Amino acid sequence: PHKTPEAPTTDPFALARALSGVHLIEGRLVPARSGKTFPVVNPATGEQVAEAAEGDAADVDAAVQSAARAQKAWAKVPARKRGALVHACAAAIRAHVDELGLLIALETGKALRTESRVEAGVVADVFEFFGGLGGELKGESVPFAPNVLSVTVREPLGVVGAIIPWNVPMLLMALKVAPALVAGNAVVVKSAEEAPLAVLRICEILNRILPPGVFNMVSGQGPECGAPLVAHPLVKKVTFTGSVETGKIVYRAAAEKLIPVTLELGGKSPMIVFADCDFAKTVSGALTSMRFTRQGQSCTAASRIYVERPIFERFVAEMKQAVDAMVMGDPLDEKTDIGTIISQGQFEKVQAFIDEGTATPGATAHVCSAMPSDPALKKGLFIRPVIFTGLDASSRLVREEIFGPVTVIQPFDDAEAVLAEANDSDYGLAASLWTNNLKVGLDLAHRLEAGLVQINQNLVVQANLSYGGVKSSGLGKEASLEAMLEHFTHKKTIMVNMD
Ligand code: NAD
Repeated sequence: PHKTPEAPTTDPFALARALSGVHLIEGRLVPARSGKTFPVVNPATGEQVAEAAEGDAADVDAAVQSAARAQKAWAKVPARKRGALVHACAAAIRAHVDELGLLIALETGKALRTESRVEAGVVADVFEFFGGLGGELKGESVPFAPNVLSVTVREPLGVVGAIIPWNVPMLLMALKVAPALVAGNAVVVKSAEEAPLAVLRICEILNRILPPGVFNMVSGQGPECGAPLVAHPLVKKVTFTGSVETGKIVYRAAAEKLIPVTLELGGKSPMIVFADCDFAKTVSGALTSMRFTRQGQSCTAASRIYVERPIFERFVAEMKQAVDAMVMGDPLDEKTDIGTIISQGQFEKVQAFIDEGTATPGATAHVCSAMPSDPALKKGLFIRPVIFTGLDASSRLVREEIFGPVTVIQPFDDAEAVLAEANDSDYGLAASLWTNNLKVGLDLAHRLEAGLVQINQNLVVQANLSYGGVKSSGLGKEASLEAMLEHFTHKKTIMVNMD
């Protein structure tokens, strides 16, 4: 059997090698049936750090069959007991937070202190939250007729296919897996090709606590490994986070089987700043939301910032100053604020946007921070954060998701006009408003087309708050009790005639 260290480790390079070349199927770490692997690269150096098993339809079938077998027994475990086991996973993950932080920093280039370790901690929170909800899988008794008992019960859907992207892979997996398991489903996760290792390590940790097969993971490419998972006849629900383009492919394939789908897709989230805001808090909120620390690779990034004209110049200057103070460097170094872009492909895509913005007449590119000086990082996928001004609403940089360290700041004079601009987007994931006039803030919050609107804060996803986009940003909700009930169970009505 494939061997990996059981206790938390401090050497992410050794751990990456130990996790090489395997899926987790039926409680065991197994190679791809084809024997194929693909490289996992450290984006800060360009060096290969591991190989991942390259899954195809045969591996997916083995994982789904294993899940289908295990699910039958798992569904019979009392819901509170399932919850208790999921809750126990939280403590086990928490014991590995430092290790998981190092591993995810190594494979994604996200800085350890500002991003990677934080993500690992939130993953444990998610398991803890859903683990406590076993007792909430309740039905209702519905008055119908005096001689008829009419009740509803919540039943699991069966095998859930969970497909995740690379930007926050551990958290996005947790938001799918934890509620699905508590609800009595079994899961097959398909990890993102750029970031399979930390997700596999978490699966291994869960596997020590949960019955074998209840939880399986395959790695591989989208069309070869993700598509067969969606198409598999025993998969009864797909939950997907990724791009709009792939989301549509997944939705079409699921429609062929008439199975439910949850889609968490892209965003182009507006941040609207009024002159009466708390200035320092707002600049700091813009930094948190724009997530330069993650090279802007965040679906909710404040990538369109609208600032009321009287404070526009000052806002741009202070944003630039704050980003300049951030240190770009080795993601594994505690001193680093900003790590790298995930892959060469993303690097080129983001750079093309920056080149286009820079070449636009009238636009100014405020290039921030400084490239790392360490020669060991010379092949690293670092891009200096850029704040653009002087672009107009028709620019591709204002309309399309860049998924990189690029934000566009535009001045506005009128609340109605800025609302119209904010809503003039295919996306509708998140938005924020910054003002001390809560009357104006609340009015606009109701009229902004987004799944999440925040006033005077820009927090990340919370396990107990419903999260998900409207328009092209997605379908259905993640996180919250409601998401567990609505998206991972179906409600059956049972009627008993007492006569
Ligand atoms: P992607 O769509 O390229 O890939 C996502 C996943 O889908 C990967 O695991 C990939 O292998 C798989 N996939 C690709 N083709 C497939 C197919 N034909 N069938 C089944 N699966 C397939 O997205 P990405 O580049 O990994 O992630 C970035 C995108 O994710 C951005 O658009 C971002 O906004 C979005 N995102 C959204 C949220 C959210 O909560 N709304 C969170 C994070 C990221």
